[in-house]
Amino acid sequence: MTNLHPDLDRVILSPDVIQSRIKEIARQIEKDYADEERVVLIGILKGAFIFLADLSRELQIPHMVDFMSVSSYGDTATSNGAVRVILDLRKPIKNEHVIIVEDIVDTGSTLEYLYRNLKWRNPASLRTCTLFQKKRESKEVPLDYLGFELPDVWVVGYGLDYADTHRTLPYVAELKSEVYE
Ligand code: 5GP
Repeated sequence: MTNLHPDLDRVILSPDVIQSRIKEIARQIEKDYADEERVVLIGILKGAFIFLADLSRELQIPHMVDFMSVSSYGDTATSNGAVRVILDLRKPIKNEHVIIVEDIVDTGSTLEYLYRNLKWRNPASLRTCTLFQKKRESKEVPLDYLGFELPDVWVVGYGLDYADTHRTLPYVAELKSEVYE
């Protein structure tokens, strides 16, 4: 790809590849929820906002969107896995069919926290949809809808950032390790 930012090593997923996988995920969700009145998609900010926007516009079944934001204590590199809610849902999800829409699962601790937190609110059903997965040490929570498995490197683009940069790139790229090490 021409004009790759000097912080970036290589493009891992092109816009076309990402968009066609999102279409496939949308078709699967439509099938799985065909008998339900509606679905609630919960986007996890900030990283999932672009994926949620594309998935939501692709979905041909009734659905609502809401958002949550969580933060790990400490910075990403030194995170000890503790998670806290910094922005909560606007509405209760009791008796709703809920899908958590996450950008990337690394160790899995963020998704596990979210899953437990939302399960407590008694939704009719709860599934997870994540666009990317890296190493995922904890496998307690199922990844019901998964876009792509990625190598264990820091990736940016398509919603994913490094220090709030590169988030709006239409592709996913590997950040050069010297940038974050
Ligand atoms: P986990 O709790 O699964 O270890 O980490 C998940 C969170 O870490 C993601 O929601 C995301 O915010 C961040 N994260 C993990 N890997 C990457 C990556 O390669 N790039 C970016 N931008 N964020 C990542």
